[in-house]
Amino acid sequence: MANHLVPFLIENRGVRGFAVEITEGIPELLGWREYSPDMLRLLGHALAATPLLAADIGEGARFNLQFQGADGQALKMLVAQVNQQMQLRGMAKCDVGTEGDFQKLMGGGTLACMLEPKSGGADRYQAMVEILGDNLSEALEIYFAQSEQLRTRICLGASPTKFAGLMVQRLPEGCSDDDWVHVYHLFQTLAEPELLAVDAETLLRRLFNEDTVRVFPARPIALQCQCSHAQISAMLLGLGEEELQPVLTELGRVDVTCEFCGKNYGYREVEVRELFAAAKVASDATASQTLQ
Ligand SMILES: [Zn+2]
Repeated sequence: MANHLVPFLIENRGVRGFAVEITEGIPELLGWREYSPDMLRLLGHALAATPLLAADIGEGARFNLQFQGADGQALKMLVAQVNQQMQLRGMAKCDVGTEGDFQKLMGGGTLACMLEPKSGGADRYQAMVEILGDNLSEALEIYFAQSEQLRTRICLGASPTKFAGLMVQRLPEGCSDDDWVHVYHLFQTLAEPELLAVDAETLLRRLFNEDTVRVFPARPIALQCQCSHAQISAMLLGLGEEELQPVLTELGRVDVTCEFCGKNYGYREVEVRELFAAAKVASDATASQTLQ
């Protein structure tokens, strides 16, 4: 299993954690856009962080880490998104050649964690992550401390061929202050190059070699887009026929490019008309059922 999330428990310390390793599918998903090395690193950090943050989400839910740039900011937007089946995708929109460290790229914009429940489920939840610290790991640690009241350490790594992350979290019970300080200091010795060089289980053995670490079965992560014809059709229906009319008049067709993977979905005018006609038949049928 090339891409995976590994849950673990440091049993004698009352600390839980997750490790993420992603090596498969990186050029396929991200290669169609041109990212500078700094941008690819930031997006890689976001893609490694998202499964860590979403490890506990409910059935059918989807978790987004999303950034919106301020007016005129070089980094316009960045999204990393994962669902409960651990299908992961992400993208960033920025000016060509955008480079810089975390604060330069994201500072001044807004970053949020957003949970979308399955349709019909509880309300969606959104929380702002303050863009503090030197990197995304630090910003997320501060977020956990402030909003979730959970002491958390996160280390993220990204190279052109691997994205990786490690998170440890103090459990509400069974972790004394001494236990947490012990784990905190060991974690402190971990840096991005080691995180990227070593596989998750070796890393855990090395870092916490005096402790009892229980590793649970890994969950596969699929780094791939989930776009589909049905989804794009639903989006066109949402826009409405009137909204599409100018494009149809000009080009005789509508082309939609998936922002995540670059795949093109083309509709000839006759297909657009059919789409709306079929939707109208379906909604008329529902309306007449309601009337009866
Ligand atoms: Zn796509």
